[in-house]
Amino acid sequence: METSAIQTEDGRALHLPAGQNYACIQCGRSCGEFWEILVEPDKVGEIRARPSDTLAGARDPADPIVESPFSPGRQTMRLVDGCCCLRTDAGLCSLHAAFGPESKPNVCRSFPYRFVETPGGVYAGISFACTAVLGNLGPAVAGQGDELRRTHAFTVHKRAVERPPDLTVDIPLDWAQYTAIESDLDALLTLEGVPFEERLLAQSVYLGLLAKFLRQARASAGAETAEPRAHAPAFDHFRRQMRDGGQAPGSDAGPETGLWATVRRIAARRRHSPLLRRACLGAAHELRNVHGRRRGRLRAYTDIYTAYFLGAVGRGSLSLPALARPIDKRRLERVAFDPNAPEMQALLRRYFRHRLFRKDLVVADDIQFGIQMQMLHWGLLQWYAAAYAIDGGRRAVELEDLREALRYVEKYYVMHSTFERLFGDYPILRGFLDRLFGQPLYAFSMARGGWVL
Ligand code: SF4
Repeated sequence: METSAIQTEDGRALHLPAGQNYACIQCGRSCGEFWEILVEPDKVGEIRARPSDTLAGARDPADPIVESPFSPGRQTMRLVDGCCCLRTDAGLCSLHAAFGPESKPNVCRSFPYRFVETPGGVYAGISFACTAVLGNLGPAVAGQGDELRRTHAFTVHKRAVERPPDLTVDIPLDWAQYTAIESDLDALLTLEGVPFEERLLAQSVYLGLLAKFLRQARASAGAETAEPRAHAPAFDHFRRQMRDGGQAPGSDAGPETGLWATVRRIAARRRHSPLLRRACLGAAHELRNVHGRRRGRLRAYTDIYTAYFLGAVGRGSLSLPALARPIDKRRLERVAFDPNAPEMQALLRRYFRHRLFRKDLVVADDIQFGIQMQMLHWGLLQWYAAAYAIDGGRRAVELEDLREALRYVEKYYVMHSTFERLFGDYPILRGFLDRLFGQPLYAFSMARGGWVL
């Protein structure tokens, strides 16, 4: 994956994404629809002290900061109809207009960026919940290095990762092994002439084969240790087989040979379970609601399992922001969707490649869990795009439907999600997901919807 790098203010490499543009178009969407807009303690008093009559056009400026219902003890901007009370009807921030960008909460100033600090440097990730990012509008992010350096210096939207992610709970990796896997996943994502959904599926297949191969190699060598060096020869051998069939060290014979071909053959198999798909997506959609409702644990578990079983028998409806009315789930898979149409594929490829770049897998519990979550996000994307199409009276998903679905998935399941806290609050849900992800047909069932092409 080509990237460019500059230096952070403290002298580390700051990697900038390639192929991504951004300039705020002031659409105002980022001021709404999030669970909460947290305000850092030293900003609370300053914002409260701003007289209401200095905030021209603010929708409801009295008492703008309240305690967060989701993060007890922390302060958040008060929301009115799901949107910041200081936003104007024209979609602009009244604080910014009156007192400049430094007057806003740190999270607002940092949006749409989030930084991940790794042993390989700092990566500047960008959120696809932003309209300009979705549309790839504005100048290249790679050309905005000075701005990003400054943002990195003040933002609270950064996460330090001290050690490389594990491949699975029982297979640790060193940083070089992680980056080699990332590069293979990117190569699978950019395979020419392969349907997009098969490329995503191939990533899951690749990781499954790699984990199996390393476990077998460690068992036969008697190297059952939590030490990445113990499986280094097997790891290198697997990747050589993957790249060139093991026949020509150093050469890259491409995806038609060796294990690449095996991965592709498996990913091309037409096996999936519509019942498992509906059940998984029904439960996943309910997962997002659990946090919003803040019900007791028992009620939350009951809701998830009920959604799972109702989904399996094809019952229930889907509610999303901006939908005029809930959509019957049975209608979703009757909507035509072609993820391989050029404009759809360009957006999907840009998004999923950026997720690798911004290190979504590094911040996941382990790489395999991260990829299986990504398959769930892909399934939800298809559902939500179909729901927005139905709501707009269309029989086929259009680019705008896919963008809206992507914004929603990014907000509630990925970049801005509260899943980590969700699993902390409801630990049984994590085990529930592990069991779903372990089903042999899981990834296949997420990859392909029943779309009419
Ligand atoms: S969503 Fe993006 S483009 Fe719209 S106001 Fe927020 S930062 Fe600007």
